[in-house]
Amino acid sequence: MTAEPRKFDVIVLGAGAAGLMCAAVAGQRGRRVAVLEHNGQPGRKILISGGGRCNFTNLHCGPENFLSNNPHFAKSALALYEPRHFIELVERYGIAWHEKTQGQLFCDGPARAIVEMLLAECARGGVELLLNVRGIEVQRGGSGGFHLITSAGEFQADALVVATGGLSIPKLGATGLGYELAAQFGLVVIEPRPALVPMVLGGDEAGWTELAGVSAEVVASAGKARFREKMLVTHRGLSGPAVLQASLYWRAGDALVVDVLAARAGLFEGLKQLGARRDLEALRTALRGDATAAGGLSGGDRRTEGLDECGLGGM
Ligand SMILES: Cc1cc2nc3c(=O)[nH]c(=O)nc-3n(C[C@H](O)[C@H](O)[C@H](O)COP(=O)(O)OP(=O)(O)OC[C@H]3O[C@@H](n4cnc5c(N)ncnc54)[C@H](O)[C@@H]3O)c2cc1C
Repeated sequence: MTAEPRKFDVIVLGAGAAGLMCAAVAGQRGRRVAVLEHNGQPGRKILISGGGRCNFTNLHCGPENFLSNNPHFAKSALALYEPRHFIELVERYGIAWHEKTQGQLFCDGPARAIVEMLLAECARGGVELLLNVRGIEVQRGGSGGFHLITSAGEFQADALVVATGGLSIPKLGATGLGYELAAQFGLVVIEPRPALVPMVLGGDEAGWTELAGVSAEVVASAGKARFREKMLVTHRGLSGPAVLQASLYWRAGDALVVDVLAARAGLFEGLKQLGARRDLEALRTALRGDATAAGGLSGGDRRTEGLDECGLGGM
């Protein structure tokens, strides 16, 4: 004997940032909503975001910051929900935050507060969250909706939201379910490629990794895009916000140009003065002076806020 499928207006696959937010809003609009998540814990990626402090929005976030084949999508989405709306939500939950640089807003405390806020918003909307749900199969339901078969039983819903995220960091639960469902339902998929990722250095360039732990403000360019932000040398290559952003525009075979001196114009001005010493010691002094100045090179600081162990974050 098999149990009757449980019926919902909306089923959301994936309890990440997108799935929880979507479920909360749908629930608060009066829909009966269930979220199906295969991890034993919701929002695992949020927990590691922004070096553990979640860079939850940016004051200057606009449609031009989104790369898409359909730029109008970001325009209409952001016209309905602006950074100030999320800040209002965060403040309603008493989550303390600070602006780090260039409008980037981080929690003062652990990113867990953002997960708890989203879960509380889901609870406010009467959303049912089911964890450890495995083997999700989706079929078209008889009346135009969807029929799901899972390890937690069968479900029916009028609407199905696939919020299972991208492929990065499988150990946190990432799978290709979204792509498989797109293929199953005949949806066109633009070829996925890594985005906001650190660069791995190999061959002759691998030697630079001996500087692992050194960070500096640089200008990183890929094609016509230029980003003046921090770069971090890791034991595998280059990371930090400047490199992560440039990775969006980099294509295999292209150059990634990192200008380490752009942020410190005038560094050698003293050496150019008439009668100035121009020996190794004078060069060392000039470099040392810059290293202590704001934005200068800093060695061995692997805990720089926003630059987490994965070399990501600060985004
Ligand atoms: C190291 C790191 C730092 C980051 N820092 C920031 C930051 O500070 N600020 C920022 O805005 N963004 C940051 N990001 C990006 C951000 O984390 C992602 O853009 C965001 O989490 C994507 O949310 P999502 O809900 O689309 O996907 P995800 O968070 O990946 O959620 C997808 C959910 O679906 C579940 N799922 C997957 N497959 C299945 C399946 N087959 N069955 C059931 N459930 C499934 C997953 O377990 C997961 O819970 C960071 C990313 C990384 C990797």
